[in-house]
Amino acid sequence: MLVFQSIEETRTAVGKYQRDGQRVGLVPTMGALHEGHFSLVRAAKTNCDVAAVTIFVNPTQFGPNEDFRNYPRTLEQDLEGCAREGVDLVFTPTAEEVFTGRARTTVHVAALTAGLCGPHRPGHFDGVATIVAKLFHILPADAAFFGEKDYQQLAVIRRMVEDLNFPIEIVPCPTVREPDGLAMSSRNRYLTHDERARAPAIAAALFAAQSQLEAGGLDVKTVVSDIVRSLRNARIELIEYVEIVGADDLRPLTQVDRPARICVAARLGNTRLIDNVPVDAPRSDG
Ligand code: AMP
Repeated sequence: MLVFQSIEETRTAVGKYQRDGQRVGLVPTMGALHEGHFSLVRAAKTNCDVAAVTIFVNPTQFGPNEDFRNYPRTLEQDLEGCAREGVDLVFTPTAEEVFTGRARTTVHVAALTAGLCGPHRPGHFDGVATIVAKLFHILPADAAFFGEKDYQQLAVIRRMVEDLNFPIEIVPCPTVREPDGLAMSSRNRYLTHDERARAPAIAAALFAAQSQLEAGGLDVKTVVSDIVRSLRNARIELIEYVEIVGADDLRPLTQVDRPARICVAARLGNTRLIDNVPVDAPRSDG
């Protein structure tokens, strides 16, 4: 497994793979790798000849009061996991390698970032879109793999790739969950024992809402208030949003008349958790 910190070496290695006719798959991550990340690696290995992983805790996507400093950094274990999964190349740069201090350019994806996490994390999606655009130039892969766990991020990246004509295929991958339903996240390790016991209520509420909506008969407002009630019952009081949005444009829906996504963000103590599930429009038997 090749492990590079430098942009130059990474670019050269990727160029060589591609000159040899190999299809390169990219999995961008912030490290603290878990089964969710490794599912993307496996998808990359199935879909491509070469799997490349980037591990970079991107400072520009964290707000001033967020957890950049405390974000888990487990590089040694991450590299072991990547080697075990058969990753071919890992790019793990320093912040100085990626951000020279001279940058004056940001990528901003409008509209899709206006709702959901956007207002709660000002500047976050600009940080994400800009680093992903940079990574796509540093490591010009043929395909890139993103988790549906971060559904708004996936929508933003897809939009950016189409709008800016990046010659890269974006492959969405389903959310990997713990056996009790909790969506895997690097941030789950912040949870106290008690918080960890309450956290699966988020996924449980989402799946209950999904069945209610797909069965038809219940309106969006009722389903949203049912989710809020379930979260409160699990003493998850700090709810940032519970929204049902169009799967493509992320606009709030008042009824599920097209493919939708139910999205939740909530805090448990100091930990911010997000999750979402798909909803198909209910079948009309008319
Ligand atoms: P992160 O390291 O949190 O920035 O995530 C890197 C990539 O892994 C993103 O595309 C995430 O959506 C994806 N990811 C994180 N958690 C999961 C999960 N539980 N299931 C599937 N993909 C995930």
